[in-house]
Amino acid sequence: MGFWWRPLSVLASVLLVALALWAGSGWVAALGFLAGIQAFVMTRRLWQEFRLARWLENPDEVEPPDATGTWGDIFYRLQKLQKRQKASRGQLTSALEQFEHAAMAVPDGMVILNASEQIEWCNPASRKFMGLDCERDRGQFVRYLLRQAHFLDFLDAADYSRRLVCKSPVNRELTLSLQLVPFGESQKLLVARDITDLERVDAMRRDFIANVSHELRTPLTVVGGFVETLAEAPDLPPSESRRYFDLMLDHTRRMQRLLDDLLTLSRLESADHAVKDEGVNVPELAQALKAEAESLSRGRHRIGLQLDSGALLKGNLQEIRSALGNLVSNAVRYTPEGGEITLAWRERAGEGVFSVTDTGEGIAAEHIPRLTERFYRVDRSRSRETGGTGLGLAIVKHVLTRHGARLEILSTPGKGSTFSAVFPASRLQHGPESGTVIPFPERGQAAG
Ligand code: ADP
Repeated sequence: MGFWWRPLSVLASVLLVALALWAGSGWVAALGFLAGIQAFVMTRRLWQEFRLARWLENPDEVEPPDATGTWGDIFYRLQKLQKRQKASRGQLTSALEQFEHAAMAVPDGMVILNASEQIEWCNPASRKFMGLDCERDRGQFVRYLLRQAHFLDFLDAADYSRRLVCKSPVNRELTLSLQLVPFGESQKLLVARDITDLERVDAMRRDFIANVSHELRTPLTVVGGFVETLAEAPDLPPSESRRYFDLMLDHTRRMQRLLDDLLTLSRLESADHAVKDEGVNVPELAQALKAEAESLSRGRHRIGLQLDSGALLKGNLQEIRSALGNLVSNAVRYTPEGGEITLAWRERAGEGVFSVTDTGEGIAAEHIPRLTERFYRVDRSRSRETGGTGLGLAIVKHVLTRHGARLEILSTPGKGSTFSAVFPASRLQHGPESGTVIPFPERGQAAG
């Protein structure tokens, strides 16, 4: 109503004046007055329309017209509209920019295709995964750039629920999962996700299950076979059935060891808490491990201990014991009778080094990087014969990693190996409570 009252009141005033003139001076004066008013209104209107047209033509550069009355109202409202539009255009532009920045930063490859499958836009990751370039390839048909038969079939099928798993056309090491997502009128978004790690983990899981099944199958078959034999022939001579029982016990123990190692590995893998800082007395532990080695060796090897440091280790005693125990038991198992095994604890450039050196069969260089993989063995039957599960060094690696330590392996085939657990300086603890230093026995003197 505010907008209308002014023109209505002006019109009413003009009519009143015209009526007064008609009454006082006759109709000619009244008509003359009305014609004058009409001429004034038209000239003013033309002028304001001209100003309005000039401003609308270039609203950002020309000053908005200034007027009073109805025209003032019109200009004011248009100006408000223009400001509102400008603000929302700014918001829209910055939202678009943000969206583009986000799409550029997305680690997945993203390609926008129009109805004819021409590339409208793609992000930098699509260059890495599919060799596409946003500037160079805009407007190109995606079929001409990615010509692999399985990709063309995938495009033709236009099945938006399906994912295509394939190797990257520009890097065979990468495995991609491609998906088409329809949007807008008839556009499509092609998304390429790098699933190389997922595939690797999946393959590892499959291998792991196959390995565990394989490891369990032999002892289970043997035990099952003997149980059947004993059940079918209960009158076997005692010496024969004794032999069967011994073999069954042997294989049962093998399964037990495998399950123990699997449980240890799974505990280590799921241990997301930090390791306890127990203050492990390594010299004392080394003595205990030496005694263990002697009991495993049953006099077949000369076993020595060299303690050049009395430092303690901050860590989890049970885990460290299991890791170092594995190194010691491997040395005994892979060193032929008459060989020498030396356990040593020393400091090197501030780090704590626990090493186990043997004069055993040694390992060829190509096997060394793979020794800590689960179930990796240089000689499968040798490992089995000596009661190995193929998981010992995988456990060692896990424990050391959890302690910020590393495993160093030096080996010469035919001469022997040194496995060293190297702990960072931050894990060493010196002080009055440090262990005692025990001298290494003379070379050639059997350690007992
Ligand atoms: P296993 O139970 O088979 O011993 P590990 O994980 O402990 O499994 O060791 C993996 C493989 O590394 C072994 O099968 C063996 O071939 C090799 N190996 C480990 N320690 C030694 C060693 N001291 N001397 C020679 N070979 C070794």
